[in-house]
Amino acid sequence: MTSADTAEIYVDNAATTRMRPSAIAALERSIVSGYGNAAGHHGAARRAKNALEEAREHAAELIGADRPHDVVFTSGGTESDNLAVVGAALASERKGIVVSSVEHKAVLEAAGALSRLGYSTRIAPCDTAGVVHPDAVAENVDGDTAVVSVMAANNETGTVEPIEEIVERVRSLDRSISIHTDAVQYFVAKPLDVSAAGADLVTLSGHKFGGPTGVGLLYVSSSTHIEPVLVGGSQEAGRRAGTSNVSGIVAMVAAMADVVGSRQRFAESAGAERDAFERTLIEGDPSITITAEDVDRLAHFSHVRIPGVLAETLLIRLDTAGVFAAAGSACQSGAVEPSHVLTAMGMPDEVAQQCVRFTFGWDARPGDGAEAALRVLRIVEALR
Ligand code: PLP
Repeated sequence: MTSADTAEIYVDNAATTRMRPSAIAALERSIVSGYGNAAGHHGAARRAKNALEEAREHAAELIGADRPHDVVFTSGGTESDNLAVVGAALASERKGIVVSSVEHKAVLEAAGALSRLGYSTRIAPCDTAGVVHPDAVAENVDGDTAVVSVMAANNETGTVEPIEEIVERVRSLDRSISIHTDAVQYFVAKPLDVSAAGADLVTLSGHKFGGPTGVGLLYVSSSTHIEPVLVGGSQEAGRRAGTSNVSGIVAMVAAMADVVGSRQRFAESAGAERDAFERTLIEGDPSITITAEDVDRLAHFSHVRIPGVLAETLLIRLDTAGVFAAAGSACQSGAVEPSHVLTAMGMPDEVAQQCVRFTFGWDARPGDGAEAALRVLRIVEALR
């Protein structure tokens, strides 16, 4: 056996990522010498406040926001999604929410929770590749729509949604609707310029692109009003109460800078490994199919169906073989129930249960893709 045969291969970067060295260094610096409550009034507090506001300024620049004030720091993707949907709904007189059928549960269940307050949710369907067409969104918008939420890219299949067209379409119907996009998976792989994308609210999560867990942000355009969901403090200009996680924020923004400065390299490294993975897999077993192969897909995502092999069984064998992948959505890794995303795409349950997701990261090594595929093929052969 060579070392390549035994090395661990982490291909679950849609679930979480290894922290980037720049983020680790920033985190360490901040924890060691930058502590202090940013809401306080002494020197240590001022240092923390300065670090926080510098990070906000930098984050705004990195996503193309007009003003630092447009960035609200949160505890991650789940909180940002909740704040966007619930916060914008509560700030509106209207009672309608439109979400796509492939949204993360953080959006779907935030909309669902609002139903207890008299709001109603309409679901815009997707096609068999998971694409949500602007017409499907527009058909669900009416005079009572407060919020529309469609993700920038899906966390299971990597399918990229036509956000700019959706924004344009919804705006052409009604300019007062708040439009949110969850860019949690998108940001690491595709350039994000919030001014060009046109959405009012954009969610990012630090640990999906080499930052720490437990920190994220919500972009809120200057013309958008949101009510806070977390209350009890005036942090984040009254839009999110709670002591600021300055070290986490500083580290996340360091990772964001890395992402923006190295997207080309990411596409080349993670993308090349993803492509080699799929090539090797299909050459070895032409019955394997790739989900959303013919539409715009994130470069590091591979969602495959292996006929006759249960994802659950394959994942256990892969784990033993040192390949760490997932089925279902990230937050339900190892889930036996077919995911709502695959069901929405019209996949029968028995097909959905044969699907596994492999997602390559910024730290992918040359050869990881082909080696992971060879290990999959060996296990599939043994299982069959
Ligand atoms: N949105 C999407 C698309 C995700 O993939 C995830 C995590 O899997 C989230 C939101 C939640 O993010 P977090 O883990 O930061 O709460």
